[in-house]
Amino acid sequence: PFEALIVGAGHAGAHTAIFLRQHGHVGSIAIIGDEPELPYERPPLSKDYLGGTKSFDRLLLRPAEFWTDNAIAMLPGRRVETIDPRSQTVTCADGSCYSYVNLIWAAGGRPRSLPCPGGDLAGVHQIRSRADVDAIATELAQARDICVIGGGYIGLEAAAVLTKLGKRVTLLEAMDRVLARVAGDELSRFYEREHRAHGVDLRLNARVRELIGKSGRVAGVLLDEGEVLPAEMVIVGIGILPNLEPLAAAGARCRDGVEVDEFCRTSLPNIYAVGDCARHTNTFAQEGTRIRLESVQNASDQANCVAKAIVGRPERYSATPWFWSDQYDLRLQTAGLSAGYDEVVIRGDQAARKFSVIYLRGGRFQAIDCVNNAKDFVAGKRLVATRATVSADRLADTETPLKALIP
Ligand code: FAD
Repeated sequence: PFEALIVGAGHAGAHTAIFLRQHGHVGSIAIIGDEPELPYERPPLSKDYLGGTKSFDRLLLRPAEFWTDNAIAMLPGRRVETIDPRSQTVTCADGSCYSYVNLIWAAGGRPRSLPCPGGDLAGVHQIRSRADVDAIATELAQARDICVIGGGYIGLEAAAVLTKLGKRVTLLEAMDRVLARVAGDELSRFYEREHRAHGVDLRLNARVRELIGKSGRVAGVLLDEGEVLPAEMVIVGIGILPNLEPLAAAGARCRDGVEVDEFCRTSLPNIYAVGDCARHTNTFAQEGTRIRLESVQNASDQANCVAKAIVGRPERYSATPWFWSDQYDLRLQTAGLSAGYDEVVIRGDQAARKFSVIYLRGGRFQAIDCVNNAKDFVAGKRLVATRATVSADRLADTETPLKALIP
């Protein structure tokens, strides 16, 4: 058996292997992944890779030699379908079978599909994998009007890139503001203004009734009120569903994610779960809230947590959440989780496109969103970690560096 058998060759899976070796694990390690590629970074898929300014080889998490040099066996192009916790084996769709001492489930998530007719027409895309973006690239020259459905990070990033490529982009968001799930009102409004200023036709409260096809290809988007928007391509970015079915079938506790404890252990013996699919208690979320975090930070830090547990030096997962997003010439960096805040402080000048939004709860520093403001991000991340009590007036005063407020 493999001492560490990892399912999923994404950020969390690859980093589990990397951290295991870093922490001195000498036993065998294998990574089973259903994509054909070696592990690569997903964030550029909706940024430089979609824009054509970064080639795929620059997305690889490590060069090919790294995996062989570190005796990490790569088993690409295989999809795990069943897990038998009693015999400690997994079986793939191609019939291959592997046994494990420790199993690490790092299967990420798959894009939610559009719950309306026409979602399966040619020309309707999602952005999760290299294959998705390569498929978009082959059709891009033929598309002039593109509809992006979903005003989350991926939809907004795609809209920014496609606008820059000269496409006529309509962005449809079902809620009354973009980024509603992850940011406060001020940041949403800022990004809405930016996208409109760059020529995106941004529609809020927009409900899609149907994608209209012509000879099997998407040609337009029918909204609830009856309007039809022309679209030779549609990109759907409405969130993901965690990949957990084989684990759930094996009896692991699951609920919108694989339930894990503070060491990323699932309810089944010797099986861990990490990354986008792992539902955990996050000490930075509102008290008692169990969440999944979809970020490189969480994938990497949970991988580290599991590696430490496997080498016998367990440490509770308590990493500070952080994230970034690139749109146009705006770099957003966030730290902490803003949900549940009761006070907002704007620091800096939104018109100058360099500012931060700080979220407080009970007077404590809870989260920060920084636009083109790396200094605030670095200090803000530490303020989030210490949960410092800081007055709103001092936070708003740009003459005082945030660093000076770290206790
Ligand atoms: P993934 O990276 O999705 O890896 C899971 C892997 O497991 C996949 O290869 C999947 O195909 C495979 N798999 C699934 N089921 C099976 C099975 N049964 N058998 C074998 N293999 C299987 N995060 C940020 O922090 N900043 C960003 O700017 C950012 N931008 C993003 C942009 C895009 C377009 C996307 C898609 C994500 C972005 N993210 C960003 C999120 C970040 O990429 C994810 O949080 C991260 O990839 C999660 O890692 P993971 O290993 O849990 O899942």
